[in-house]
Amino acid sequence: MSTINPDLGFKRKLTRLSGSQLNQCMQCGNCSAVCSLAPTERPFPRKEMIWSGWGLKDKLMGNVDIWLCHQCGDCSTYCPRDVKPADVISAIRQTSYQHYARPLFLGKLVSNPVWLPLAIAIPVVVIIAILFLAGTFKIPPGPVDYSAFFPHGLLNGTFSAITLFFYLLASFGIGRFWKDMKIQTPPGEAGRKRLPVFRVLREILSHSNFSGCGSRTPGKVAHLLLFFGFTLLIMVTLYAIWATVTHHYPLPITNPFKILGNLASVMIFSGLGIMTWQRLFNKSVFGKSAYTDWLILAAIALLTLSGTLVQLARFGDWSIAYHLYFFHLVAVWFVIMYMPFTKLGHIFYRTTALLYARSIGRK
Ligand code: SF4
Ligand code: SF4
Repeated sequence: MSTINPDLGFKRKLTRLSGSQLNQCMQCGNCSAVCSLAPTERPFPRKEMIWSGWGLKDKLMGNVDIWLCHQCGDCSTYCPRDVKPADVISAIRQTSYQHYARPLFLGKLVSNPVWLPLAIAIPVVVIIAILFLAGTFKIPPGPVDYSAFFPHGLLNGTFSAITLFFYLLASFGIGRFWKDMKIQTPPGEAGRKRLPVFRVLREILSHSNFSGCGSRTPGKVAHLLLFFGFTLLIMVTLYAIWATVTHHYPLPITNPFKILGNLASVMIFSGLGIMTWQRLFNKSVFGKSAYTDWLILAAIALLTLSGTLVQLARFGDWSIAYHLYFFHLVAVWFVIMYMPFTKLGHIFYRTTALLYARSIGRK
């Protein structure tokens, strides 16, 4: 005999986030039958739908399958009761970021609009404190010289240390997620193989799982643009940090890294454009978009836009150059440091789930 522990608060939350009438699911199994990514053995999302209807939070939080879903929306299209399983799975993923956030407060901070002012105030206060500490909190006269106002060494050092600290905190949550997956989806008779790191890396680099869903072709293009745009931007940022250390900063507009940085911005803007268009006009796939979906799209857009304006402001000697740079730093904090606790955290959770799934032979 097994005991079930329904969590009605969790069920209400899923209902609110997904806009789905969970009790309407009649367990026909159509959703699992049409899902091109569901394994033949214990397919999804039918079983997740009954667990959601019963409020079985424990089963769903450590569920590896919700991360194998790439939200193509086919299951929602073919659901005879219009229960929107794709939106329910997406809502479970959203809840996971908060559930595994350590400390829990960080998860709440970026998932509820009530906390948005505080989420912005934290980086603002930290950056002002750094400027005070360096004694540079006064706009210098003459042509724009960011290093006269923003002490690059101190800023880079503090930002890197805080990022590492936040990611260390996040790793505790990911560790718990791994343990929960082992309990909820134990390896079958074949046991668990060595971690298939290269295979998962290949899946991620090619975003091949999107190819299983025909309706997700624009989504695949958008994700690839963002993924490689970000990768390029991180490489350029690392080079820029090195340039500040070796006093080769600022870079001229003709510098190859500067050109690559601008190319990365174009890629990110294009990816964001496709994603926003899809969320606004392709409701059959994306269903109900939540606050966390819009928050991360807006944060990445503001980060990229402010980064572009910061360089234009330097070349054009704009009077608001320093204010733009300040805004850009807040956007950097929002996207990079809060990353594991926002929707961007799927980079960590999906990778971890793929590693586990493939290691137990779940394809
Ligand atoms: S969610 Fe829809 S398709 Fe899936 S089992 Fe329930 S009623 Fe059937
Ligand atoms: S949204 Fe697509 S991938 Fe996800 S469960 Fe539904 S059919 Fe499968």
